[in-house]
Amino acid sequence: MSKRDYYEVLEISKSASAEEIKKSYRKMAIKFHPDKNPGDKEAEEKFKEAAEAYEVLSDDQKRARYDQFGHAGMSGNGGFGGGGFGGGMNMEDIFSQFGDIFGGGGFGGFGGGGGGRQQVKGSNLRIRIRLNLEEMVNGTQKTIKVKKMKMAEGATSKICPTCNGSGVQLKVMNTMFGQMQTQTTCGTCQGIGKVADKIPAGANAQGLIKDEEEISINIPAGARDGIQLNVRGKGNDAPFGGIPGDLLVIIEEEVDKTIKREGDNLHQELYISFAEAALGTKKEVPTVGGKVKITIDPGTQSGKILRLAGKGLPSIDSYGKGDMFIHINVWTPQKLTKDQKDFFEKQMLSGEMVAEPSGKEKTFFDKVKDLFN
Ligand SMILES: [Zn+2]
Repeated sequence: MSKRDYYEVLEISKSASAEEIKKSYRKMAIKFHPDKNPGDKEAEEKFKEAAEAYEVLSDDQKRARYDQFGHAGMSGNGGFGGGGFGGGMNMEDIFSQFGDIFGGGGFGGFGGGGGGRQQVKGSNLRIRIRLNLEEMVNGTQKTIKVKKMKMAEGATSKICPTCNGSGVQLKVMNTMFGQMQTQTTCGTCQGIGKVADKIPAGANAQGLIKDEEEISINIPAGARDGIQLNVRGKGNDAPFGGIPGDLLVIIEEEVDKTIKREGDNLHQELYISFAEAALGTKKEVPTVGGKVKITIDPGTQSGKILRLAGKGLPSIDSYGKGDMFIHINVWTPQKLTKDQKDFFEKQMLSGEMVAEPSGKEKTFFDKVKDLFN
């Protein structure tokens, strides 16, 4: 079955305002709400379809991408969490969106009279990892100690007296379509259905205790500064049998002293001696793909820029690669031995070694211009 256009789903025009989108979605959500259409598969599909359309169109960035690429632009781009929107939302996601749409409590859980105890999730943890350029380009594995809340040993629970373990409380809500009976999360146990019974020393009221865990994190190739990885289930434990939260890893780029980046291109300064500049030589320079040998021609001037095509970073939005630019600096000796001093003095006195610009030397700006032609 082909996917319907999101604007068509919400019955709005392409130029609809945020307010119109919200209003239309609210209408659809009420019309196709599972509590109003028990057992109606078609209504459920429409309900999900509308939620998915809203999820995308209510987010400026996602909407722009959808406008440009259609449904094709919405699938995740592998590796990194939070990328695209894979399509198909589960009911939990949809209901969690409702606080925003209906204000306040909104519709509670979904279940039409069934048990409906919520799976409680531990809170997410956030850490930062510094990576150098090479690690970012090639990917790496890091093992780090993370401080987190874990279920304390010996902590026990009992059934919540408020909701009798169901995790929900029934509530009658007045909506614009009249009264609707909805379920809300139990305020005593926060939907877990259990409350603490025995709490060991040092643990909090939910039986959780501060602990530390070594976590190994796989960082895929092509990471960029500021990108976030989601390590599922490695966040804080949930109280009494829920699922643990996630560990969110934010990638930070370590500032490299020798290699500077500019978009996908990399720049580095290379210092060569006066003799090397005069006679020419070969040098090894580090690149993210390993060391590369370069040739310095005899008579190389300070300020020359060499370009190593394709030795920059892989481009994030095309298949290409950036380049590495080597900026050559001729190092003027600061301490001379007696012999060297004699040699240079002789050269100077004889007038044999002088600066002889031919007028064809390129200025710094000419060189930069050349590189891009
Ligand atoms: Zn309860």
